[in-house]
Order: sequence, then C-alpha cells, then structure tokens
Amino acid sequence: MALTHKTARYKVIADSGGNRYSFFCDITGALLHTTDPIQAETQEQELETAWEDARKYFNRCHKCGKWVSNAMYNADVAECVECAPWEDPPRYCSHCGKEITSAEIFCPRCGKRLQYGGEGL
Ligand SMILES: [Zn+2]
Ligand SMILES: [Zn+2]
Repeated sequence: MALTHKTARYKVIADSGGNRYSFFCDITGALLHTTDPIQAETQEQELETAWEDARKYFNRCHKCGKWVSNAMYNADVAECVECAPWEDPPRYCSHCGKEITSAEIFCPRCGKRLQYGGEGL
C-alpha cells in the first residue's frame, strides 16, 4: 500500500481570521468539508490542523490510497468504488439461492448481505 498522499485534495481559501481549507473527494471532486479559519506558524501545521478536522468525512481506500466520501467507499472491503465496484443488484441470493425480485440489500430468506452499498456499514 503506497502512501501517495497524506490528505485528500484541498484548496486554501484566504479569510480574515486565517486560512480556510476545503477538502474534496478524490473520485467525484465533491466538496466534503471546509474548515473554520486556521492560524498556525507554518502552512504545514495549518494543513495538519485542518485535516484533523476534515478527516472524519473521508475514507481511505486501502488499495489505491484515495480519500473518498462515504458514498464512494465500499466499506465491506475497505476500498473505493473504483477498486471494488458495487455489484449490480443480484437476481439470486448467492447464499441460499432464493430469487430476488426487488433491489434488496439483504436476502429476505436467509438475511445475508446481497450487495454493497445501501444503509449501514
Ligand atoms: Zn481505490
Ligand atoms: Zn439467502
């Protein structure tokens, strides 16, 4: 696992009380968090403080090292959806073989998880 980058992509926004930091999802480019103005001795320290604040909005893919939002993260395998794409809704439960007629996350018969995504995890 290569540590390619320490934080997600970010942008510095100059503000009267210090610099604000906006952090973006590495896959979609969506803005996930903007910090309050931060003042520190060096830009490196600012970034560290900003990232401490924003880190909770991100998940790190254990494969490619991208920082992504919850929606772009496959928590079952701890990888981003580019490395571990969500599967299409399955037509049969792979555990008990029951036919699935709607987009169920869990098998209505055996209760096993059928696909990634959805609520929880
Ligand atoms: Zn990845
Ligand atoms: Zn089943």
